[in-house]
Amino acid sequence: MKVDCLVRGRVVSPLKPLTLGQKAEVLRIEDGCVAIVGERIMDVGEWQTLKTLDAPTVLDFSGCVVTPGLIDPHTHALFAGNRSHELLLKLQGLGYKEIAKRGGGIRSTVKATRQASFEELVHTTLKRVHAFSKSGVTTVEIKTGYALNVEGEITLLQALKEVEKKSKVRVLKTLLSAHAIPEEYEGRAWDYVKHVVLKTIDYACLNSLAQFVDVFCEPGYFDTQQAKTILEYALSKGLKAKMHADEFEDSGGAKLAAELSLVSADHLESASSEGLSEMARRGVCAVVLPFTFHCSMLPPQKISKYAGLCVALGTDYNPNCTMDSLTSAMNYAVYEMGMQPIEALCAVTVNAARALALEDVGVLKSGYRADLAVFDVEDEVELVTRGGNSPLLFSMCNGRVVCPS
Ligand SMILES: [Zn+2]
Repeated sequence: MKVDCLVRGRVVSPLKPLTLGQKAEVLRIEDGCVAIVGERIMDVGEWQTLKTLDAPTVLDFSGCVVTPGLIDPHTHALFAGNRSHELLLKLQGLGYKEIAKRGGGIRSTVKATRQASFEELVHTTLKRVHAFSKSGVTTVEIKTGYALNVEGEITLLQALKEVEKKSKVRVLKTLLSAHAIPEEYEGRAWDYVKHVVLKTIDYACLNSLAQFVDVFCEPGYFDTQQAKTILEYALSKGLKAKMHADEFEDSGGAKLAAELSLVSADHLESASSEGLSEMARRGVCAVVLPFTFHCSMLPPQKISKYAGLCVALGTDYNPNCTMDSLTSAMNYAVYEMGMQPIEALCAVTVNAARALALEDVGVLKSGYRADLAVFDVEDEVELVTRGGNSPLLFSMCNGRVVCPS
């Protein structure tokens, strides 16, 4: 039988979404092989069996680990400007709100993004996507949310479409026009919802420019009533929905995510145990973002807070947190938050696929998309210890080579 490509290596692939606290179901084949036809995996098994297949390309990574391509389910990688100097203010002990008062924070990114050209936005975002791929990422979610007016958010959606077209990895597009309230709508959140957020949802839906709608649900941003209005509107239009919930304080975001059966609720640092239990009951994924603590200089939380939930890990890449390595996020989740290495691997593969409602990625399995990553390590434990420069040797998305590029 003829196939396009055989990838030989030590197969380590989660098989099912993992509920934190339960035992992971993982396929391990010491001398394994993934057989690929076109964009799909045809078979996964022993090298001794599959080597008889007729393949023009055989990639021999014996002794190295082959995993599903990694999935980053939460980034804000589409923006202009540079806020690295805010680190010096953080080192002086200034918080998020004080930095914003001095002209920094999200509003400075909004200003730079509104002024940037379409080409600049596409170019810088593609560069960031390329950086993500260096740690084995083959799927990345990217949000809008730094233009905060109808015209600007539409431009960002169109830029995302262009990034998706030009990128070697899979890009999922999220409309986050409800990221913050811009200066011109200060104190008029409902007006902003009506005149900007709902209109951008209409546009995204009509032009198929986003898979998801997201809301930053926090006091001072969008309250739960506003979030509910926005998310229900998105769902009624056939879009999928997720939300930034309970990051700064418990304002009922997790409960709302459960009530609306969203695909995921993200952040959740301050979520109540009741809210998290509701999410677990309704099958809402928890997207945990370890770099958010790190870049805000806050002490890390324990991952055990999320026991009982399907937990995914993301980088939360944004102008205030330019950490682009998902394997480093795994490293941080294990060393600082107490996650097990196998839980971290599930969190960036099969669980992250669920957090993005993707049904045929995140697992090395016959019929699934041919997305894989090969690392020069012995197993997922060593992968987690190598948090800095990624030991990535090779990666593939939809049967096409991503790294080396
Ligand atoms: Zn975020």
